[in-house]
Amino acid sequence: MNIIDTHCHLDVADFELDRNDVLEHCRALGITKIIVPAIESATWSGLLTLCDEEKGLYPALGLHPVFINQHHDDDIQKLEHLLETVTPIAIGEIGLDFYLKELDQQQQLKLFEAQLNIAKAHNLPVILHVRKAHDQVLQLLKKIKVKGGFCHAFNGSLQQAQQYIALGFKLGFGGTLTYKNSTKIHRLAKELPLESIVLETDAPDMVVESHRGERNSPEYILESLSALATLRNEEVDVIAAQTTKNANDVMNFSAYE
Ligand SMILES: [Zn+2]
Repeated sequence: MNIIDTHCHLDVADFELDRNDVLEHCRALGITKIIVPAIESATWSGLLTLCDEEKGLYPALGLHPVFINQHHDDDIQKLEHLLETVTPIAIGEIGLDFYLKELDQQQQLKLFEAQLNIAKAHNLPVILHVRKAHDQVLQLLKKIKVKGGFCHAFNGSLQQAQQYIALGFKLGFGGTLTYKNSTKIHRLAKELPLESIVLETDAPDMVVESHRGERNSPEYILESLSALATLRNEEVDVIAAQTTKNANDVMNFSAYE
């Protein structure tokens, strides 16, 4: 098996004590590649070092919308400067979170637009975090034509999914596939073309059903894979091969090998 975790925060402190064991176990399970999206500028260098040292880890660089109050005025400049010498796999995670009412929407829009422009200038795909803001994000993506990417933890409508697909995006699904009550996610995962789906864990968050209350781990991506296979009434191998191909179609992993 050859599986890609398209979204995993392996650089955070939750993995401090056993990161090597987790990675070793992932490799044994056939999880060959893990994309590690950034959250804030303070952690960029640690994230880059980790991805440099460990085979199969690919960094994305960006400013996460949920942490809008932690970002600094010169972070965009810092990102542009860093990109003069470093080529990440993508710009991420970036986007809009209009679900959390306490986060300033205008500030988020400004930061997101700036990062889309950076992605476009560097011809890089993007990794999107979007909650209650798909129409706003789609509108911006139509204006600023980036090289596609992933819409992580997708929870929009089928119509919105189709618009992302038309713009070169794949939709990310993870632990929620394993939840009995996630009827909307199940429907999306069943009805979307398999060519548009990628797997992710979002570890340490969004843990699978069987590990509820615990730290999520990229190792558990196999449970989401098997849940997706069951939902679509397909062989696990078929789903694994296609979702891996989908991730490869958007991300230029070979540039790092
Ligand atoms: Zn994330």
